[in-house]
Amino acid sequence: MFKAILIDKADSGQNVALTDIEDERLPAGSVTVRVAYSTLNYKDALAITGKSPIVRSYPMVPGIDFAGVVEHSDDPQYQAGDQVVLNGWGVGEKHWGGLAGKARVDGGWLVPLQAPFTLRQAMGIGTAGYTAMLCVMALERNGVKPESGEVLVTGAAGGVGSVAVAILAKLGYTVAAVTGRPQESDYLKALGAHEILDRAQFSEPGKPLAKERWAGAVDVAGGHVLANVCAAMRYRGTVAACGLAAGMAFPATVAPFILRGVTLAGVDSVMCPRADRLEAWRRLASDLDPAKLDGLTRDIALDGVIAAAGEMVQGRIRGRVIVPVG
Ligand code: NDP
Repeated sequence: MFKAILIDKADSGQNVALTDIEDERLPAGSVTVRVAYSTLNYKDALAITGKSPIVRSYPMVPGIDFAGVVEHSDDPQYQAGDQVVLNGWGVGEKHWGGLAGKARVDGGWLVPLQAPFTLRQAMGIGTAGYTAMLCVMALERNGVKPESGEVLVTGAAGGVGSVAVAILAKLGYTVAAVTGRPQESDYLKALGAHEILDRAQFSEPGKPLAKERWAGAVDVAGGHVLANVCAAMRYRGTVAACGLAAGMAFPATVAPFILRGVTLAGVDSVMCPRADRLEAWRRLASDLDPAKLDGLTRDIALDGVIAAAGEMVQGRIRGRVIVPVG
């Protein structure tokens, strides 16, 4: 038996509870992992609250991330005792996920724990942090360098945003952080932001083109926020877009793209190829200051996850949440 959060369909909506589950109910997969830590991402919060249709089949154990120790493996790449990490691949959406004492998955979905991280630090980073790294890599691929000019991070006090600010600052970029929580200004400055901007300036419909300011941007918001960010990009700047915290819509014009050569680089972590994942984890090991990582994480026990999911969809969780499981 192991403990897990379980989401089940109900007459109206869904039921979510912390439950005991027998090992025999684990789904098919080549590697069984004793989960040591999981985490809470925005997508998990949407699944647990039922706010968006993340869960594809019921009953479902949510949790798009886990870090743990291999208990049994039919995959030659892994042996019992190996420390492994999982991010995405539809786990926690259509395959039972990481908010549980055990998980069984396809070995091809796992990556070995990246040295020098601990299992706990890997979940401090989680999908949000690894996506922040993918966003930074997208900016770099498109030629955005520290000397190119200021870079902007939206949703900065959230998980992706906090890690993006910390990485970009460590790499020497001048980072402006957009937040709806001015009370988090000191926190964002401690992560390395040089300027804090009020989210309200970005949330209303704006002009197709605004004064050129940003050489690069990491956007977790979508909606008018993304449209306004695109409008204020410098000539040939790049926006890495990964989220929809402000909405799925993209109410923009083509002006920034056809008049300023702006690049909108989409970032997906779920189906991201293995080579890019491994590169992102290597880069996190070199470009994320462990002291800053400690400063942006906090623990929530498995029995506190359902309440925390409600707070997260309201934008009230700062930084990253680690869920100790084992
Ligand atoms: P968090 O909940 O930790 O952070 C989201 C942040 O967005 C909030 O903290 C808040 O920051 C900001 N925000 C909330 N509501 C609004 C709004 N209406 N307008 C503008 N900003 C808002 O979530 P994550 O960091 O884990 O994820 C962020 C987004 O990225 C989500 O949409 C998530 O689905 C997406 N994502 C996508 C991935 C991919 O593979 N493409 C992978 C991981 C995440 P503040 O208070 O500072 O304003």
